[in-house]
Amino acid sequence: MTEGVTKRMITAEYIKQRAKELGAAVVGIGKIWDEPDKRRDPYMILPKAKCVLGFGFPVPRGLYKAMEENRQFYTYTTEGVKYIDDEFAEIFLFKIGNLIENEGYDACLQRAVPGLRVKGDKTTNPEVGDTFELISDPVEDGKPAPDVIIDFGKAAVACGIGEMGLNGKIIAKGHGPYMRYAFIITDMPLECDEPLTEQLCDKCGECIKACPGGAVSEDGLDTWQCSVYYKGAHKSNVFMRDDFLLGNPEREAIINGEKRFDAESARAIYPELKKFLPTFKGYAPCLCGKKCDIACYKHLKEIGKI
Ligand code: SF4
Ligand code: SF4
Repeated sequence: MTEGVTKRMITAEYIKQRAKELGAAVVGIGKIWDEPDKRRDPYMILPKAKCVLGFGFPVPRGLYKAMEENRQFYTYTTEGVKYIDDEFAEIFLFKIGNLIENEGYDACLQRAVPGLRVKGDKTTNPEVGDTFELISDPVEDGKPAPDVIIDFGKAAVACGIGEMGLNGKIIAKGHGPYMRYAFIITDMPLECDEPLTEQLCDKCGECIKACPGGAVSEDGLDTWQCSVYYKGAHKSNVFMRDDFLLGNPEREAIINGEKRFDAESARAIYPELKKFLPTFKGYAPCLCGKKCDIACYKHLKEIGKI
């Protein structure tokens, strides 16, 4: 709590109601989970944290449908990814954060950090042109190397709103995969929801079959593989050209989704992928059409989970 500010109390119910009015489709409040990794520990951001608030913002179904029918791709990136994360979620977080801070407590706003990876995290984020692994050191013993970035998958479970599916995307309870997230860590004592115990991803494997780049397996998502095919290296990309990788002996294997990519080979092919469509303020155009999410959505619909 901030010094000198009078402490009052608003309820969990009231915050949830305001969050829905401001555009969140799902809202949950959870206890701070036991996080063994200090680089992802909410207590390392707010040592006196009492709970975490989780919010899900729906990505319009029409944006996925337009990609599925090969009619339009760029709006998913601009409206479904960038706008929600960079603008909508930020304004939303400030409004809810102000509600909390006006009551005399601290609100640490947590939006997606698309271009950064905590030190030692060798994965990437396919949604951006490239990612940067942080190289800082702890400033003293017992502290993590900055910056601390919480695990959104664990936060969603703690708030009872969703869980990470096999394809590395959070599935929202009752809504499915077409959702993006933001969180607030606070020292305001609020009534917490139960963490999610129900398994939303039933490991059906539809996302494995749907990905044109073989980026999903029973072991989960290979983010470097995904980053290459998200950016369009497959033959089902409507922007694919005959001169793509012309003369490259691996061309067929690549466009058929058979070559395996690691960080080095993925980064080596990025300049070729930028020729399909330009990136937009750091965000890569989604040229796989998010086939994994669409397959997941249809599956969850079929089995009556959404
Ligand atoms: S498609 Fe099936 S396996 Fe893949 S994330 Fe969805 S529920 Fe899980
Ligand atoms: S369908 Fe697209 S987003 Fe999904 S795993 Fe494959 S490349 Fe990645």
